[in-house]
Amino acid sequence: MIAANLTLIRKSIPSTVTLVAVSKTKSNEDIMEAYEAGQRIFGENKVQELIEKQATLPKDIEWHMIGHLQTNKVKYIAPFVSLIHSVDSNKVLSVINKQAQRNDRVIDVLLQVHIAEEDAKFGLSKTELNEILMSADSYVNVNIRGLMGMATFSENNELIEKEFEFLKFLFENCKTKHDLPRSFDTLSMGMSGDYGIAIEKGSTMVRIGSHIFGIRN
Ligand SMILES: *Cc1c(COP(=O)(O)O)cnc(C)c1O
Repeated sequence: MIAANLTLIRKSIPSTVTLVAVSKTKSNEDIMEAYEAGQRIFGENKVQELIEKQATLPKDIEWHMIGHLQTNKVKYIAPFVSLIHSVDSNKVLSVINKQAQRNDRVIDVLLQVHIAEEDAKFGLSKTELNEILMSADSYVNVNIRGLMGMATFSENNELIEKEFEFLKFLFENCKTKHDLPRSFDTLSMGMSGDYGIAIEKGSTMVRIGSHIFGIRN
């Protein structure tokens, strides 16, 4: 089932769009099924679960942290994480930089922007985003690869379109307003319910869970 779902999703997205298989709450067995079908990039939203899975599953998996990250937990994932999607404060960025330095690494990150109507979702405002980008030069052990955002959970496609358009606008705006390296190339938007719209609006990375692994409890 998982392998068939992956095949269908791969067919429906352009080859230039990176697929992150969101495996939160799913077993190692399920993850291995996706792995056997060729999937190598997996996303988790909890540090504890991420470190347990990383320790037991194949070492060529690229682990992405997609959930809110507390500063005191950065140290546990700094040795291996390949992309952190959820940088939502200057504080967490500076801690990632420090822990990356300790591990003699440069860690790729995305800045998470608040684009949804709901208050509950984490993310930077447009002003905070610009502030972080202005001080980004001082962090030599992080590489800011782009932006991430989550649209409102809604049936209203027009609303979702508007939110993704706004994130794409900010992404392009960052490139013109700030002196960013060419590696600022990643726009992480789109989940099971809205990845089609996200890709239309310029997403380069989709994070898909339930459409691959089935619904979560
Ligand atoms: C859970 C999660 C996803 C995947 O959600 P699905 O609707 O299951 O595809 C994507 N992004 C983030 C940040 C998540 O927490």
